[in-house]
Amino acid sequence: MISTEISDMLMKNKRHFLIPASQVASLNADNSLAHAFLVLTKVRYSRIPVLDHESKFMGELSMPLITEQMLGLDDIDLQRLDGMTVGEVMDREIDTVQDPYDLEEILHLLVDNPFLPVVSQDQDFVGIITRREMMKSLNYLAHNFDKNLNLMDNRD
Ligand code: AMP
Repeated sequence: MISTEISDMLMKNKRHFLIPASQVASLNADNSLAHAFLVLTKVRYSRIPVLDHESKFMGELSMPLITEQMLGLDDIDLQRLDGMTVGEVMDREIDTVQDPYDLEEILHLLVDNPFLPVVSQDQDFVGIITRREMMKSLNYLAHNFDKNLNLMDNRD
């Protein structure tokens, strides 16, 4: 259980945790793998969310999942990507969170995941929480813990 003081302080910065869907690079499950290859190369992320036409979260696609499809027995062929869709090869077994502010769960899951998709009850894609943003908040907390604690004590 996270201490209330720490949780309260982290929550003060909660708007920093969530990168909203509008600012997240994503793919559509119907996109061809050739298109996905170009997008991933351009955005320079090795893994991004996959959505359907109604912006529901479906999974994630990574560069290794694409390059695997390009490999022949003794060559690499980009054209193999034209006839395949993102939905066919994406990873569907993804940890997601519904409440972007459930710190306990988020900190636990970020140990193994560089980012966490946030979804509504109906699977609508809300955004992502990245390890980097959480580290920035924890860094801030570590540097300002005493100061904030004093402020809270003086309030009572
Ligand atoms: P970071 O903690 O900033 O290094 O991000 C961790 C991972 O989250 C990245 O490697 C990407 O897979 C994903 N990510 C971060 N920001 C974005 C974004 N704006 N759009 C799509 N994916 C992102």
